[in-house]
Amino acid sequence: MTLSAVNTPIEITPIGHIRSPYKQKFAIPRQPRLVDTAKAQLVLDAPFNNEEFIRGIEEFSHIWVLFRFHETADKGYSALVRPPRLGGNARKGVFATRATFRPNAIGMSAVQLLGVECKGQKVVLHLGGVDLLDGTPVVDIKPYLPYSDALTHASAGFADTRPQTHMTVSFSDEALAFIAKTDPELELHTFITQVLQQDPRPAYKKNKDGVQSYGMTLYDFNIRWHVDGEHNHVEQITAL
Ligand code: SAM
Repeated sequence: MTLSAVNTPIEITPIGHIRSPYKQKFAIPRQPRLVDTAKAQLVLDAPFNNEEFIRGIEEFSHIWVLFRFHETADKGYSALVRPPRLGGNARKGVFATRATFRPNAIGMSAVQLLGVECKGQKVVLHLGGVDLLDGTPVVDIKPYLPYSDALTHASAGFADTRPQTHMTVSFSDEALAFIAKTDPELELHTFITQVLQQDPRPAYKKNKDGVQSYGMTLYDFNIRWHVDGEHNHVEQITAL
């Protein structure tokens, strides 16, 4: 095979898109299942919104979702990137990382399959533990196969263990009163707690002294909190 044939561009058509509580990149966990209360929907788009395409998938507890990092794809890539796990200082080859800025901007996440919904042309997979931005285009879905995909003895260099933080989280009375009025299925209290325990701040902010204030949007809610040392305090939650 000639090199030009190998390098021929490939055209890929998304098969669906993600509806996620994560409305901006900030605060999305860096891998799936780090925040298990992050529930999303994978909506199949025409002509794939047909029950036949997913028949049998309900037998699997987890699936691979292959997607495009659409929000950052037009920003290109570089050979060397700075993984947040290394404090944003050391550089690694992009193919030695899960960085978003990569050639072809393809991502892959093994997520929980919570349920399947087929009503006419509405074909939706309900997912748990996602690390996906709202609106993410999905290019393929595959069942997760534990006998082959779960490599318990594999080693993973600088990312060998689940990221640990000691961050604690508290809520103001006002924030708790707001949560009490939201749909219990959203598990908003646990969801916000898990997101903040991940310490979503950029690496360069983590060792700074003093109180830092932040905001994020989850579902249709604006959440404001501050960080003091290793403690997050949720001050206010408002509807968008
Ligand atoms: N699990 C995937 C993988 O390994 O390919 C994604 C890992 S990547 C480090 C996770 C980050 O991708 C999230 O923290 C979020 O900031 C970003 N992200 C998620 N969906 C995105 C999208 N559609 N476009 C751009 N960035 C996205």
